[in-house]
Amino acid sequence: MNETLRSDVLISGGGLVGQTLALALARHGLSSQIVDPADPVATIAPGFDGRASAIASATWQMFEVLGIADRLAGHGCPIHAIKVSDGGQAGELDFVTSPEDRALGTMIENRRLRIALAAGLADAPLVRSFMPAEVANREIGAHGVTLTLADGTRLAAPLLIVAEGRRSPTRDAAGFTIAGWSYHHHAMIGAVAHSKPHGSVAHEIFFPSGPFALLPLVDDERGRHRSAFVWTVSEKDGPGFAKLGDRGFTAELEKRAGGLLGTMELVAPRMTYPLGFHHSASIVADRVALVGDAAHGIHPIAGQGLNLGLRDVAALAEVLVEGARLGLDLGDAALLARYQRWRGLDSLMVSLATDSLTRLFGIPGRTASAVRRAGLGAVQRLPALKNFFMDEARGEAGDLPRLLAGAEI
Ligand SMILES: Cc1cc2nc3c(=O)[nH]c(=O)nc-3n(C[C@H](O)[C@H](O)[C@H](O)COP(=O)(O)OP(=O)(O)OC[C@H]3O[C@@H](n4cnc5c(N)ncnc54)[C@H](O)[C@@H]3O)c2cc1C
Repeated sequence: MNETLRSDVLISGGGLVGQTLALALARHGLSSQIVDPADPVATIAPGFDGRASAIASATWQMFEVLGIADRLAGHGCPIHAIKVSDGGQAGELDFVTSPEDRALGTMIENRRLRIALAAGLADAPLVRSFMPAEVANREIGAHGVTLTLADGTRLAAPLLIVAEGRRSPTRDAAGFTIAGWSYHHHAMIGAVAHSKPHGSVAHEIFFPSGPFALLPLVDDERGRHRSAFVWTVSEKDGPGFAKLGDRGFTAELEKRAGGLLGTMELVAPRMTYPLGFHHSASIVADRVALVGDAAHGIHPIAGQGLNLGLRDVAALAEVLVEGARLGLDLGDAALLARYQRWRGLDSLMVSLATDSLTRLFGIPGRTASAVRRAGLGAVQRLPALKNFFMDEARGEAGDLPRLLAGAEI
């Protein structure tokens, strides 16, 4: 019989959220074992994840504490302004910071993030990764959790953290109640090189057919200006756009961008993601905690999904590290209840706000558009409201875990 390998926690799912959590725990002396069926070499290959993420400034502060920001040096493009418009009407609402001020966020290609996290894990002796590996059996008992892998290896810990993304099978098997719906929209994503500089400005343009975002990236090694795009179209139109050749697709992109960035050229494979909303009523159960997309999934309209997951990471790490210092069992129900109280409401509020925004901007017709423009204009004219939205974009609102304030736990 194989020996049982023990750690402080088990993490099922080694995506961006699961790996960051393992690093945050290791930094504070807690060991973890990550299990994921994905091949780690495949997950950092160029065509695997073509997305880029807007990392809020609070999340970036956590990356600094965890040593991830150093590994991303030169790859992050600061966002100094966000311009929001209804149907491409310029200058309706803009959030602008001065170049000396802290950025609203940083754009990073997910592949760069994955490479930085993998390098961080390679230097973290308290993290053991089982990737690719399948779980053959899962026992969640009164005193701990044991995972038996397909090759017979047994892993045990007092707590199982589920970071398996949207379709998490462990979450579903554990009986968590999930509310969810489809937006019947697809997001087409990719990156373009363009003739005009982006000036570190992110553009969010709401068309009746769906939002269109242009997000600044760092120039490439040839000095070409680059931006990521997230272009949302209805489910029925998605396949048609997917069939367009690169030239036709680029012409459509330029049309939507309205000349903001000049002429464009695709520089990364295009990918399409179906968009939906889901939210778990609870994020903890006996000896189990959910983090990231396993707990909640939102529309990418405001670029908050990964940030929400990384806020889960910061809060759960703080709860567990403090619990360990008090000598508590890390699967203790009171500890998990603290995590639930801390993250349950915040993630629900952000999720619902994002859902409302998606619906509001999806209503067709001139009256709806006039109401939206009035709303954008009102925010533009009210500094207090504007600052509130800027704090939200920076991820600095609410009861911030220490890591997100740039401090050790
Ligand atoms: C088009 C688009 C644009 C986006 N843009 C942004 C943005 O700008 N900013 C932002 O904050 N967020 C953004 N998001 C959201 C963000 O990408 C997700 O919230 C984030 O990737 C979730 O990370 P995760 O680690 O929780 O899940 P995932 O990335 O889905 O990782 C889950 C991991 O679990 C593994 N797994 C699956 N099943 C099992 C199993 N049975 N056992 C063990 N492991 C398993 C998978 O192999 C994977 O490695 C965007 C999303 C989309 C679709």
